[in-house]
Amino acid sequence: MGSEPHSRNLVGQSLGELEEAVISLGEPRYRGRQIYRGIYGRRLRDFDAFTELSHELRRSLAARFHMRVPQVAREFRSRDGSVRYLLRLEDDHSIETVYMPEADRTTLCLSSQAGCAVDCRFCFTALLGLQRNLTAGEIIGQVLAVATAQDIPRTRRLNLVFMGMGEPLLNLPPVLAAIKILSDPEGLRVPLRRITLSTVGITPRLELLAGERQRPKLAVSLNASTDEQRSALMPINRKYPLRELLAACRAYPLRTWERLTFEYVLLEGSNDSDADARRVVKLLSGLRAKVNLIPYNAGPELPYRAPPFERVAAFQKILTSKGLPAFIRISRGQDVRAACGQLSLAGASSNA
Ligand code: SAH
Repeated sequence: MGSEPHSRNLVGQSLGELEEAVISLGEPRYRGRQIYRGIYGRRLRDFDAFTELSHELRRSLAARFHMRVPQVAREFRSRDGSVRYLLRLEDDHSIETVYMPEADRTTLCLSSQAGCAVDCRFCFTALLGLQRNLTAGEIIGQVLAVATAQDIPRTRRLNLVFMGMGEPLLNLPPVLAAIKILSDPEGLRVPLRRITLSTVGITPRLELLAGERQRPKLAVSLNASTDEQRSALMPINRKYPLRELLAACRAYPLRTWERLTFEYVLLEGSNDSDADARRVVKLLSGLRAKVNLIPYNAGPELPYRAPPFERVAAFQKILTSKGLPAFIRISRGQDVRAACGQLSLAGASSNA
């Protein structure tokens, strides 16, 4: 749309790639850094805004390259202030990104894939199957698109969580390439300790992530207290059972400021009993961990429900009374079908 057939999108390109690109135009290497700072630091999307570059260079860049982010196809504003975006990719696939403002910070929930190949029984994204992996540019593009739509000041404290569509450890190289730029002081400047990667726990990939110098915080979706229960809710548990998963978690090198987060989606009658809570305490004993309890965000396509609040509170109490920090995370945007994958499903079925 509007760009030359061979025009390349610069959003998502690393500093090295941008340097190569300018060198190929016969320009000095440092111009690559100027463009990098412009795209990510200043969030520019028009070569005419690069006032430090000559008009001639701007023209030759514009002839070969463009800077494009996913387009807002639909947006749903929740009463709680969060906004759920359905973003359209260049090949017409859709992904979801959620904007969640709080008093002192804004959290963005990012997708790592269009759809998801992991078949969690309670998850709406799972119903879509895997459509495709996202590129680093599409991951960064979610941040840039929402920053523009919401006019988020560059000084605003941002938190990023990979808790949207997809399993980030099954698309690890683009996720890590995106995180490198998102966390770069010359890029989007979101410190690594404010970026969280949430995973079902693909244990061999946890070992890979552990070896990364620039790694985000890690959250593991535990969601059950026995293998039988977890395999029923998350069939991938048959491949990476609790024993192996928790061994990988114990081996995972934490930085001094860091704790491992375990997410536990509470599903009424499936995983929310006192006995479950006691087993969770046992499973996580000896780990520097905290638990985020997430009452299920229900929808018509799936039969699960959240437990009543008293059950959630009782579950939390068992964890905290045993010294395991546990927090209740009320899903935001419930009135806009904010659970993972719900919006795309709704969009697909209402074909709006
Ligand atoms: N694939 C990754 C990241 C995406 S899901 C993962 O599984 O961690 C992010 C979190 O949302 C997971 O903890 C998942 O268990 C939870 N989740 C999925 N669907 C949900 C729903 N309908 N209500 C509440 N939490 C949900």
